[in-house]
Amino acid sequence: MNALRCNVADLLHHPAARRPVHLETDSAELGEVGGSRLAEAPLVLDVVLERVPDGVVVHGTVHGVFTAQCSRCLRPLTRTFDTAVRELFEPDPLDGQTYPLEGEEIDLELPVRDTVLLDLPIAPLCREDCAGICPVCGSDRNDKPCDCDDTPPDPRWDALRELHLDD
Ligand SMILES: [Zn+2]
Ligand SMILES: [Zn+2]
Repeated sequence: MNALRCNVADLLHHPAARRPVHLETDSAELGEVGGSRLAEAPLVLDVVLERVPDGVVVHGTVHGVFTAQCSRCLRPLTRTFDTAVRELFEPDPLDGQTYPLEGEEIDLELPVRDTVLLDLPIAPLCREDCAGICPVCGSDRNDKPCDCDDTPPDPRWDALRELHLDD
């Protein structure tokens, strides 16, 4: 049973009606993007469903937790996120733009999935100034700073530069 399905019959029968909704679903396996994935923690929706001429608009926030590896030092990290959602459900949805109003029900999993996955960072950092791993000696520079020169001149570029000298 999908915890994010909502019956909206009350809204459909009352123009301009609105209803706040608080929903929780545990560890929704919504998938992953890049190196980030949703943690085994509740995904919480605080949204308002609102009747509009075209259908039902859902707007509000999705709160959750994701886990990932730092893209620089590869340490595991856990972060909370708050993602804003604003989507329209209508009887004849526009592919990729709006979501289906199925009779008197809407399925919030679809926009939540789309919005949250887009919002998770593709290259998360354990902290803004993470020093990362030295590409020369492999030391985690957060623990053991090293003096390696990690920008060795690439001889191939020298050869290219010489080729272009005559242009
Ligand atoms: Zn890091
Ligand atoms: Zn080093």
